[in-house]
Amino acid sequence: MSEKKSKGQELQKTLSYRKINYFERADKAERKAIFDYAEGYKAFLDAAKTEREACEFAVAAAEKAGFTEYRFGDPLKAGDKKYFVNRGKSVVVFRVGSKNLEEDGFRLIASHIDAPRIDIKQNPLYEDGGMAFFKTHYYGGIKKYQWTAIPLALHGVVVLKDGTKRKIRVGEDAKDPVFYINDLLPHLGGDQMSGKASGIIDGEQLNVVVGGLPYADEEVSDKIKLSVLSILNKTYGIEEEDFLSAELSAVPAFRARDVGFDRALIGAYGHDDRVCAYPALTAVLENETEHTVLAMLVDKEEIGSEGTTGIRCKVYEDLMEEIAVALGANFRKVRFASKCLSSDVTAAYDPNFAGVYEKMNSAMLSCGTAMCKFTGARGKSGSNDANAEFVGEVRKMFAEGNVVWQTAELGKVDVGGGGTVAKFVAELNIDTVDLGVPVISMHAPWEVVSKADLYSNYKAFLAFMK
Ligand code: MN
Ligand code: MN
Repeated sequence: MSEKKSKGQELQKTLSYRKINYFERADKAERKAIFDYAEGYKAFLDAAKTEREACEFAVAAAEKAGFTEYRFGDPLKAGDKKYFVNRGKSVVVFRVGSKNLEEDGFRLIASHIDAPRIDIKQNPLYEDGGMAFFKTHYYGGIKKYQWTAIPLALHGVVVLKDGTKRKIRVGEDAKDPVFYINDLLPHLGGDQMSGKASGIIDGEQLNVVVGGLPYADEEVSDKIKLSVLSILNKTYGIEEEDFLSAELSAVPAFRARDVGFDRALIGAYGHDDRVCAYPALTAVLENETEHTVLAMLVDKEEIGSEGTTGIRCKVYEDLMEEIAVALGANFRKVRFASKCLSSDVTAAYDPNFAGVYEKMNSAMLSCGTAMCKFTGARGKSGSNDANAEFVGEVRKMFAEGNVVWQTAELGKVDVGGGGTVAKFVAELNIDTVDLGVPVISMHAPWEVVSKADLYSNYKAFLAFMK
């Protein structure tokens, strides 16, 4: 082998595209930065398992970084650092830049802070077979069988009849009890296992065990239910009727942990989409910029972005208009000049299920945050499908920011698909493209991402804001 490369080798190097493993590319200092950044992210994952908690976390972090609350109608000027809370379930953190807003527009990073989970019904509590249970209705696209036989924590709020709000968070502290969804023992599971996986557990079997101790009084029926009610009453002042106005969710009680001997990966509940929300938040909180940048952490993406806290709600458009008006800018011009990274996760290529992926266009783990020019399914249906011009513009930003990134498509054409908030932002006449971290076992109770991809996503946001 000669030292000198042949002409063909040189040409191949110049002309060919190949993905780069970010860990391989990173020097010692950058590798340290990748691993250090993951520590803050894991703390966020453990603190914020629901959209309400993520919202609280973001507000606390924003205040710590000198951001103050913004309300519609407040005056704004260049240099302002603000956050806007929508109903305690979504939050927009923003910096007002020095550039002319009509010419430069907003730089938006939109990600979501809700995640698939098991929601408690409005009349949930009953007892049977020596156990008390909550009836549930799952939230988002889950494989129901994955949510059985694992420890669950209960998070949420109960609004009492006088309007008082009680926060509930049980199952996260090592001393806390946890909750549980039963599965069938294999000895009796012959029929269950011979059917389709979607029928292994049906929706009405996702009942959460919440108690087993009978109330000590011979005169009452439903003693276990009563004992649970009595504990809830003593602890939170709740009566059964208060469940009518409650929002409670069972989420995996697992903590975020490093995965692998080399700690390259992170396992956790709800990487989708906190692995994008956290970099969006920290990028805007920690970095000054001449642009007016907004990190939008929204709710309800997993069920179609509906409701007053999902991105389809007019409140976000109103907020942008309020900002434009406060700065004396024409909102229509501002929107036209704006750019958005719709930051949501994508599927990482998984060699254990290679058949559903098209390898050339799948996101490879640790090869950086992944841009999806289009999402959708079956002929790109329902996709934003970003312009090549805008993709080119973002590509240039990433090159200047030395970002290791890749492009991705969720899986093979016609195998399946998915959507994000991109198309709803694009409806406002804002150039938008999807960019997010590749995830293994997406929507499972415990998902896996690469620390390199997490940090790449953060660096991509910095490049976008610069
Ligand atoms: Mn998502
Ligand atoms: Mn999702």
